[in-house]
Amino acid sequence: MDSLMAEPSLSDIYEAEALTKRLKRSASPESLNLASILSQCEPRNPCFSGACIICGRRMQAACCELVDERLRSLAKQVRGRMTSYHLVPAYGMVDVGNLTHRSISAFSKKVFRLLSEAKVSPSAFCIDITLNDMPNTEFKPYWCIHVHGIAVDWPSAEQVYNLKQALTRSSEIKRPVRVEPLDERLEGVAYLFKPERSRRERSLCTPVFGHRGPYHDTHRRALRPQQSVELALAEHDYGLGQRIFTIGISSSSVQYYVGRFKRPPEGLNPFVVGV
Ligand SMILES: [Zn+2]
Repeated sequence: MDSLMAEPSLSDIYEAEALTKRLKRSASPESLNLASILSQCEPRNPCFSGACIICGRRMQAACCELVDERLRSLAKQVRGRMTSYHLVPAYGMVDVGNLTHRSISAFSKKVFRLLSEAKVSPSAFCIDITLNDMPNTEFKPYWCIHVHGIAVDWPSAEQVYNLKQALTRSSEIKRPVRVEPLDERLEGVAYLFKPERSRRERSLCTPVFGHRGPYHDTHRRALRPQQSVELALAEHDYGLGQRIFTIGISSSSVQYYVGRFKRPPEGLNPFVVGV
């Protein structure tokens, strides 16, 4: 399958149009420039912007191919299935209004150094960003830059210990390190490279019946207009392919499957390229 032919869904097209409108309404020179780049994206001439959900969808398909071709059969030989990583470091928390490509770049350098030093098995990782909101609590909403990944083998107890030592729990982030077995479904792999961006709203619920005590429930909701503009500008400046980080996979394979997404989009600040 040619990844560039991965078809965007109707909801992707709707979301892309909604973002372009929000950028135009925001009316800063940067957001107008990005709106123009996104509105010119088409299958024969993709924009490769980190803010483009349609290019993000194509990169997701390319990452699934990379995993299928380079990790899945290796994982079957080693343990019978692949392993997923979810790392949510406290240094990925950014105040709303302060998210820029520099926040993402500083985060990625730190987390990818940590993963390289942890010597995890051959793997592919992708940066994800949500806006975490806990209404009616003392916590202010914050951007949460985090990383999902997929690896050939389960980490050793020592590797998990080292990751947990490096990424400590906080009152906002209860489980900064999560490692889980991954089944055969393609959806599981696709989720780790998802281009959708959302607001995670966590609220305290009190059950009316039964013996269960109050508990926290998390819902995914759409970002508010100003939040989507802030995130789109930061992700555009950071770059689309720069979200992907691999360990133990040959650079020619990475180049073959996802290299084209590392191309800087038109209008990208040259200062940022290559970060
Ligand atoms: Zn695009």
